[in-house]
Amino acid sequence: NDKKTIPAQVTPVAGGDVWSGVWVIIEYTNGKVAPVSWELLGEGRKLADAIGCGLSGVITGNEIDSVIPEAFAYGAEKVYVVDHPILKDYRTEPYAEAITSLVRKYQPEIILMGATSMGRDVFPAIATKLQTGLTADCTVLGIDPETKLLQQTRPAFGGNIMATILCRTSRPQMSTVRPRVMAMPERIDGREGELIREEFTFDESDFHTKILEFIGSDAKSAFLDKAEIIVAVGLGLAAKKNLAIAEELADVLGGTIAGTRGAVEAGWLTHDQQVGQSGVTVRPKVYIAIGISGAIQHLVGMETSDFIIAINNDPEASILKVANFGIVGDLFQIVPAMTAEFKKR
Ligand code: FAD
Repeated sequence: NDKKTIPAQVTPVAGGDVWSGVWVIIEYTNGKVAPVSWELLGEGRKLADAIGCGLSGVITGNEIDSVIPEAFAYGAEKVYVVDHPILKDYRTEPYAEAITSLVRKYQPEIILMGATSMGRDVFPAIATKLQTGLTADCTVLGIDPETKLLQQTRPAFGGNIMATILCRTSRPQMSTVRPRVMAMPERIDGREGELIREEFTFDESDFHTKILEFIGSDAKSAFLDKAEIIVAVGLGLAAKKNLAIAEELADVLGGTIAGTRGAVEAGWLTHDQQVGQSGVTVRPKVYIAIGISGAIQHLVGMETSDFIIAINNDPEASILKVANFGIVGDLFQIVPAMTAEFKKR
């Protein structure tokens, strides 16, 4: 429902139907760049090399100049910037409008963004405006050697199969990609490139939402995707009051509490603490799974953790098959015993 007239400045520079280049939308909020943006510049480099085209970064926000050298350092050859006070805090409509206008003007062949809350929100809005396809939540990307089309692979049918999707007709090809599945590229400070600043006029009265207040999430659950030690709970915990035994273990280890969708649906944890297919992907140094069965939708979000310890009273539980160290027994005895032992050290 893109009823707005397209500002004059978005007349396609390539002259209509020439789509070229790989773009990464760099997510910058509250003074921080989402690390997946840099992971995607690394991945974007491989795609651009396979196609034989350029790699660009796009930064939208307000007072964002400090991010520009970083984008070059992580491999962008060009950086497009839209810097405007209206973009200070993230909102779907102005962000979607700015990025859509840039895409119409410069016609990139592929655009990528992290499958973060922001990417999952703004990319569908952009795809709708551009009338193109979007493959959400990809875990693998590649280029088909013959057609040069983007191969977008993601879990499908509840994670039981991996589907590879091609966008044959419409442009650009758009994917959101899970954080932490692509490697972080080398950062080469001082690398330079071409900077393109776009001036936009926004009209606040065009937007249907206003930001009234920010309510931060619980510090203990924030940044789950960056946590080095995670103590995760499942329905084996039986009741919310029993969360205390896991929290005590997390406190002793300096770890972060997370859990399964079961634990979130039971109201024991918030959604930003959910690990798995419809939650966060994590890759901590240590993942302690307490009373978690190991459903495929949970495993896809944590199986690449460096070291997995699982506690379950069912010796057949799937989680024990991916665990480096499995303890078969009653969590109500084992977890307090572990906490007591760690306290001594
Ligand atoms: P359960 O499967 O009920 O497992 C509880 C475990 O605790 C059992 O293995 C049991 O043996 C053990 N246990 C019980 N008592 C004790 C005890 N006293 N001591 C030791 N062990 C004990 N799930 C996710 O986690 N993340 C997702 O992102 C996600 N996305 C989904 C998306 C879709 C489309 C669908 C269909 C499902 C999704 N799910 C997701 C749900 C998933 O299929 C499972 O239902 C869920 O992970 C199970 O949670 P659980 O392991 O806590 O519970």
